[in-house]
Amino acid sequence: MNLELSEEQTAVRRLARDFVDREITPNVIGWDRAEEVDRSIVKKLGEVGFLGLTIDEEYGGSGGDHLAYCLVTEELGRGDSSVRGIVSVSLGLVAKTIASWGSEEQKRRWLPGLTSGSSLGCFGLTEPGTGSDAGNLATRAVRDGDSYVVNGSKMFITNGTWADVVLLFARSTDAPGHRGVSAFLVPADSPGLTRRAVHGKLGLRGQATAELVLEDVRVPASAMLGPEGKGFAVAMSALAKGRMSVAAGCVGIARAALEAAVAYATEREQFGRTIAHHQLVQELLSDIDVDVDAARLLTWRVADLIDRGEPFATASSKAKLFASEAAVRAANNALQVFGGYGYIDEYPVGKLLRDARVMTLYEGTSQIQKLVIGRALTGVSAF
Ligand SMILES: Cc1cc2nc3c(=O)[nH]c(=O)nc-3n(C[C@H](O)[C@H](O)[C@H](O)COP(=O)(O)OP(=O)(O)OC[C@H]3O[C@@H](n4cnc5c(N)ncnc54)[C@H](O)[C@@H]3O)c2cc1C
Repeated sequence: MNLELSEEQTAVRRLARDFVDREITPNVIGWDRAEEVDRSIVKKLGEVGFLGLTIDEEYGGSGGDHLAYCLVTEELGRGDSSVRGIVSVSLGLVAKTIASWGSEEQKRRWLPGLTSGSSLGCFGLTEPGTGSDAGNLATRAVRDGDSYVVNGSKMFITNGTWADVVLLFARSTDAPGHRGVSAFLVPADSPGLTRRAVHGKLGLRGQATAELVLEDVRVPASAMLGPEGKGFAVAMSALAKGRMSVAAGCVGIARAALEAAVAYATEREQFGRTIAHHQLVQELLSDIDVDVDAARLLTWRVADLIDRGEPFATASSKAKLFASEAAVRAANNALQVFGGYGYIDEYPVGKLLRDARVMTLYEGTSQIQKLVIGRALTGVSAF
């Protein structure tokens, strides 16, 4: 197995590093304190091609393979997880899902805007009453002539207040559980759809997270993505790839923690020498370093499986489980290296820890990833 990057992949990674250094790093503390990333970043992400990775050029995409996608999400995660999440959701969960499941008309309508950054997508699965148990969602889409009338609410929707299109999951038949769920592409300015920003998040403060309320929202029947009753399969296929992108973002968090901790440890002096001389500090650094490598290798394996057309969902759950827990550990270890200075937001590691914490919760909690892995091992579903 060859782990060397191709020339194209190396170039994409360099492009992403330069982009982060230029457009993100100088703003990270300001955006976090203001609780809002500057929205102009979306257009810039589109211009540089990061919102079109793996999408065919005929729909405005920038091509590339899934390893290139991981390289970019790792760099963005190293820069600012709030920005990384914009890409992982609009491209990873929405555009890629339209590319996989959409009709020709749906692809032509939505993909050029999403890949260029002139429009943004959000993924509406979670509801106030159903998170892990997403197959039991309650939002209803009732057929009325050539359209569906949708009522319900969605919680914690990333990009929610910014999005132009909602990939929405709603119950459209009386079939029980996930078999009654269908997916719809709902324009965010549809009459009856209201959005309320969720404030007070522990991390990802710059990201637009929202609650969506749908009251008699009318969507044409042609807005259904994939076959009726297959919405849960659409959601799970999106999340299987999405978990790889969360994992890559977590590698970025852990790498940022490592770089900051090594730099600090080789400058800060205690007991007459830099703290890097103290073996217990070296232990903290080496633990972070091993976490970075292990998380990255698990993540790259998923990209390799996808690009070779092999089954990848369980490998993606493993990568997401390990990388998200590793990012929390890494940021926490880095904070320890910084001592008291790690606890104030002029230094980067406190934010890394706050941002990392949600990674073990969204796109399936760590417990849910373990159930997915356990089901693959035993053939027995705990759901
Ligand atoms: C910042 C943020 C952004 C998000 N973005 C999006 C988004 O863009 N789109 C979207 O649809 N959702 C999004 N979510 C929602 C996220 O995916 C859910 O929060 C997550 O799936 C968990 O659901 P819950 O919060 O309802 O927790 P619950 O499902 O209520 O779980 C609570 C606890 O119980 C555990 N648990 C539940 N069931 C089991 C079980 N069977 N076995 C063992 N343990 C179990 C969980 O692991 C967890 O520890 C986001 C959440 C956050 C915080």
